Amino acid sequence: MDIRKIGVVGAGQMGNGIAHVMAAAGYEVLLNDVSQEALDKGLATIRKNMERQVSKGKLDRGVMDAALARITPTLTLTDLAATDMIVESATEREEIKQAIFEELVPHLEPHTILTSNTSSISITRLASRTDRPGKFMGFHFMNPVPVMQLVELIRGIATDRETYDICLGVVENLGKTAASAEDFPAFIVNRILMPMINEAVYTLYEGVGNVRSIDRSMKLGANHPMGPLELADFIGLDTCLAIMNVLHDGLADTKYRPCPLLTKYVEAGWLGRKTGRGFYDYSGETPEPTR
Ligand code: NAD
Repeated sequence: MDIRKIGVVGAGQMGNGIAHVMAAAGYEVLLNDVSQEALDKGLATIRKNMERQVSKGKLDRGVMDAALARITPTLTLTDLAATDMIVESATEREEIKQAIFEELVPHLEPHTILTSNTSSISITRLASRTDRPGKFMGFHFMNPVPVMQLVELIRGIATDRETYDICLGVVENLGKTAASAEDFPAFIVNRILMPMINEAVYTLYEGVGNVRSIDRSMKLGANHPMGPLELADFIGLDTCLAIMNVLHDGLADTKYRPCPLLTKYVEAGWLGRKTGRGFYDYSGETPEPTR
């Protein structure tokens, strides 16, 4: 099956990155969000990131203009019905994702493939509530999407071979590399990454180190390009907490319990870069540790 038109639900940091790479690869993109502000911000981010690629010689200006013209923003979810593939990338909450698929399904073409960019939620469960579990996949991009090479492909228990092959073809068209993961909580990348981030928050919570020393330790001592707290702010602390909760609930092992300090930051609305404050304060020229 030929995929030409792609619907992206959610224009946040991941959704706008997905729309960016899809449009640059030649797909027509319909980009949906519940918030006009998020759509405006998402489109402005795509333009800014493409401009950066042009200035670095990684993207031709003509390709950029054509790609931007291929992205149509809409506040109406059902406008995405006439697409070949949906990539759902809304907030990491199961009830939100479920409601999106419920609203979309009655309007979809029979051939349309449904995918979710969820970081952790069961693909099998999301798929089972649609009319097409065979045509449902986990399509997990990494942040920032235009830069990161990997896409995790997660098959639900009912996902058919053709759907997997089509999704793999899309990943290859994007010039990215796929890794297959089985459908268990948080799949591969976040199963390994998120407990490390959570442990870094415990290290802060217990006073073993401050923000700067924890991040410096992992950057200079383990050769990580970003410290774990810096990375948590980059991912979004709400997303980190949601993933830990999925691991904790799904695997019923206390080693996955979210750090109370992470919960408190999320309760305060300190979600990291996207709200201007998390483990660092982003209001000044350079990020300043908050602890
Ligand atoms: P975000 O908070 O930046 O964006 C979420 C967007 O979804 C917001 O713009 C919000 O308005 C929109 N939204 C909420 N409800 C919606 C609805 N019903 N219909 C349409 N849009 C809706 O979050 P994000 O970081 O872009 O995360 C999105 C998804 O990507 C999550 O499932 C997350 O787990 C996954 N993900 C995140 C990362 C990361 O590093 N942040 C990496 C890989 C995957």
